[in-house]
Formats: sequence, C-alpha cells, structure tokens
Amino acid sequence: MESCRCEVLNVLSGRVAQDYLRGHLAAGRTDGLGRQVHRCPVTELEWVADRSPGGYADDVLVLRRVLR
Ligand SMILES: [Zn+2]
Repeated sequence: MESCRCEVLNVLSGRVAQDYLRGHLAAGRTDGLGRQVHRCPVTELEWVADRSPGGYADDVLVLRRVLR
C-alpha cells in the first residue's frame, strides 16, 4: 500500500493518480454528477476521480481532493 499523502496533496493526474487510486484509495460512492468518489482509509478524506477535459488524445485520470 502506498503511504498516505492525502493531507499534503490536492490534485493528482495521469500515472501517479492511477497508482495512488489503486494502491491507496478505497472505492466509494458516486456523487451527484456521476463521478466516482474514493475514500482514503487513513484520513477518510475523499477524492473525486475525473477525466481531463478534451484536447488530449488519451484520457487522463485526474484525482481532486474534496474540500470541506
Ligand atoms: Zn490517504
């Protein structure tokens, strides 16, 4: 399992985001916009998984920490 960096990071993208999602975050609910929300098992902070807006050839995963 990856070490928890949820309290120091706000946004992750690309390969780093995928690894962090798989290695650290637990699958959670889906929010009102149909986005996947993932929860950190350590801090219980939530992250929204998004795709970068158009303009790229490949979909790029973007993780954004949910601010409270
Ligand atoms: Zn964490």
